[in-house]
Amino acid sequence: MREDFDARWHELAEEVMSGMKEWRLQHPRATLKEIEQALDERLGRMRVRLLQDAALASAAAEIGAGEERPVCPQCGKELVARGRDVRELTTQHDGVLRLERSYGVCPQCGEGFFPPG
Ligand SMILES: [Zn+2]
Repeated sequence: MREDFDARWHELAEEVMSGMKEWRLQHPRATLKEIEQALDERLGRMRVRLLQDAALASAAAEIGAGEERPVCPQCGKELVARGRDVRELTTQHDGVLRLERSYGVCPQCGEGFFPPG
């Protein structure tokens, strides 16, 4: 997993830098503000990808993988794992993060939850 990250993250950073260089060559008269915007766009995309990868590596993403099982926020019962599902989160700068997470159901209230983290 660590090596996957190295290769993937390297590629992402590379994309930002070469994309930025390309953009700058095509916009020789860009103002500082325009340059900043172009950079923020690229960094924003990279940010979402990094966040997604890093979040997926979290042990908290797996119900039953850690020592402590997540509990129902309403009654405190331990959640029962119910397979995996995709959770969509909106991040800062309006990026959409899609995480595949194990999904838990409370045996008492029947509510389904994604564990936090
Ligand atoms: Zn409950």
